[in-house]
Amino acid sequence: MKEHYLAVIKFPMLVSLSLIILSIVFFSLALSNYHHLGLSAMQTVLFTFMFIVLTVLVSTWILILMSTHQKIKPHSLRLYTTWMLFNIYFYLAKWLGKVFMVKKSTLQESFLNFNNEIILSNFMGIHSKNILLLLPHCLQNSECKIRITSDVIECAECGKCDIAKVKGVVDKYQVNAAVATGGSLARKLIKDNRPDVIIAVACHRDLTDGVRDSWRFPVYAVLNERPNGPCFETTVSVSTIEFAIKKFI
Ligand code: SF4
Repeated sequence: MKEHYLAVIKFPMLVSLSLIILSIVFFSLALSNYHHLGLSAMQTVLFTFMFIVLTVLVSTWILILMSTHQKIKPHSLRLYTTWMLFNIYFYLAKWLGKVFMVKKSTLQESFLNFNNEIILSNFMGIHSKNILLLLPHCLQNSECKIRITSDVIECAECGKCDIAKVKGVVDKYQVNAAVATGGSLARKLIKDNRPDVIIAVACHRDLTDGVRDSWRFPVYAVLNERPNGPCFETTVSVSTIEFAIKKFI
């Protein structure tokens, strides 16, 4: 529990800290200019504009923090906060993460976990048929003779890889599942299925890019484990997938 909390908290802490730094810089500049020379018309316009931007940034961030526990309505407001999270706050955290030398994978994991919290609080009561489970091809055992290119239903459940366990969960909850060999196929599967919620399994980089690319769709991210190195016979926590499905339906 404590580990999960720490894995979530780093990203929002970096964003909050960067907003505090921006506010301190803004008010220091505005006040020092005002006290020393007074503000010219041009400076007044500039500082007013900066103040509005800062206010929007801070208030939107507060709304995003609230959305980890409360559903955001209406839909357009949710899209706005998602866009801001993926296109503004993500870069603010990245920038400050570089300053504090936070590992890229640590920041990506925290970002994904934070986004998962938002998705869980905003999407409930979904019909299982409208949930799409997207799996990476590297989950499959490399010596498996069955070509699982799109559907896990083909798996013969020999148990040599986690596809068998995933198939069990898919059968149990009757969700849609597909195997994507790359980002383009994943995008096509999302476009064709138009699910209400996506549960995507992949590595840090692919998930971070995928979640941000498909920002109009709610994507719950499940990181795979790579005991044999990247992109080869990876594994996944099936209980995490089941946990997410149970929360959504
Ligand atoms: S569990 Fe399924 S996918 Fe994995 S090796 Fe066996 S038959 Fe192939």
